[in-house]
Amino acid sequence: MVEHYDVIVAGGGSAGIAAAIGARRAGARVLLIERGACLGGASTLRGVVTYCGLYTLDLEQVVFGVAEEMLVGLRELGAVTEPRKFKAVAVVFDPEAVKRVADELCERAGVEVLLHTTIYGAVRSGEQITAVQVTDHSGVHEYTAETFVDATGEADLAHLGGAQVRYGNDGKVLNGTLSVRFGGVPADAPITRETVSAALRAAKDAGMPGLSGTTGLITRMPVSGDLITYVADEEYDARSAADTSRAERGGRVQAQACLQVIRTLPGGASAYIVSTGPELGTRESRHLIGRTQLTEKQVLHPGPVTDAVAIGAWPIETHPGPGLPLEWTYLAEPGYYGIPLDVLRSRDTPNLFAAGRTVDGDRGAGASLRVMGTAFATGQAAGVAAALTALGLDAETAAVRAELKRQDARLPD
Ligand SMILES: Cc1cc2nc3c(=O)[nH]c(=O)nc-3n(C[C@H](O)[C@H](O)[C@H](O)COP(=O)(O)OP(=O)(O)OC[C@H]3O[C@@H](n4cnc5c(N)ncnc54)[C@H](O)[C@@H]3O)c2cc1C
Repeated sequence: MVEHYDVIVAGGGSAGIAAAIGARRAGARVLLIERGACLGGASTLRGVVTYCGLYTLDLEQVVFGVAEEMLVGLRELGAVTEPRKFKAVAVVFDPEAVKRVADELCERAGVEVLLHTTIYGAVRSGEQITAVQVTDHSGVHEYTAETFVDATGEADLAHLGGAQVRYGNDGKVLNGTLSVRFGGVPADAPITRETVSAALRAAKDAGMPGLSGTTGLITRMPVSGDLITYVADEEYDARSAADTSRAERGGRVQAQACLQVIRTLPGGASAYIVSTGPELGTRESRHLIGRTQLTEKQVLHPGPVTDAVAIGAWPIETHPGPGLPLEWTYLAEPGYYGIPLDVLRSRDTPNLFAAGRTVDGDRGAGASLRVMGTAFATGQAAGVAAALTALGLDAETAAVRAELKRQDARLPD
């Protein structure tokens, strides 16, 4: 027997969680499929512990809905900081708490969740995807649905289902980074983003082997005070297991080199690695080709947001390559931009929607909309649109916006 759903969401990261809950609250029967052992995606599987894109530079929160429910759940567990200004505004959280809150939010909403389940194929009939093929330790299975949301980050579902996709932008992808968490660094030790970056730069200039990036995000975790660093940069093709394996090994070499440098800093002598990754963090991979593409111009010079189904607020943050400095370009007033529904809709597969970093943005727009705060927003919008389509209801912009507002997504007018 093949189980049938209204909506299947592929990938349980920030985008997938929000898509599944958004679709379920819009009245659909929803299956969320995740290959890992927990929900959260990069926030739990790749040590990315700061939600970006929820606030403007002026500390105005602009993404609500499922993202806000996640924040409320984390606050109840004492597991998230107040918004902090780095290059832009973010909150830092404990990934173990994200796992728990994500489970609870999905359970409360009535989303059916399958962990440890990898999508390895999709069935296409004419213009539509009709089923996903998955594997777990009992074998292979198939699940059918009316509509699908691709929140896999790598756009696996779209690729396997024969929808148009594009790897990166203009022949380039943003580089990936292995997150490294260091413990044993006392709270009062003068070990900061600036001191670590300066020491890494000096060590690199002095010819220390194994160092690449020196300037990524470096921040303290809530409660433990552990140091999280995103400096072990790697260049690889995220579609290739062989190339990603090489990059994972390279990232671990960099992590050890970074540890040696931190141990030379005042207060750093007892530092140790709590964990790397566990997985290398991929910033960019495949994008679905949307009915329209979000452009850098729309991000930097936002127009009216009356037709937006999601809001982005993170600057364009480009990681051009290992060892190269990050490039930041800031948004004009009001400090946030709208993402229209057609950006989330597949151009050639009408029952397929993009969410999170699979969304179709050009090089600049993609380097902004990929962050997790925005992934919650595009996810919830894609989930609602997928549900309304599956149920045969009006799924155009006004109807999707109305349902998102009913779900407390608080889209600005
Ligand atoms: C090093 C690094 C630092 C970053 N820093 C920040 C930051 O500070 N703040 C921020 O907000 N963003 C940051 N980002 C960006 C952000 O982490 C991602 O763009 C974001 O997680 C996108 O969310 P998502 O839900 O689209 O994808 P993901 O979080 O990648 O989730 C995708 C999910 O799909 C699952 N999946 C994939 N393929 C399959 C399959 N075939 N079958 C089943 N499941 C599958 C994966 O296991 C994963 O759980 C960073 C990224 C990196 C790499």
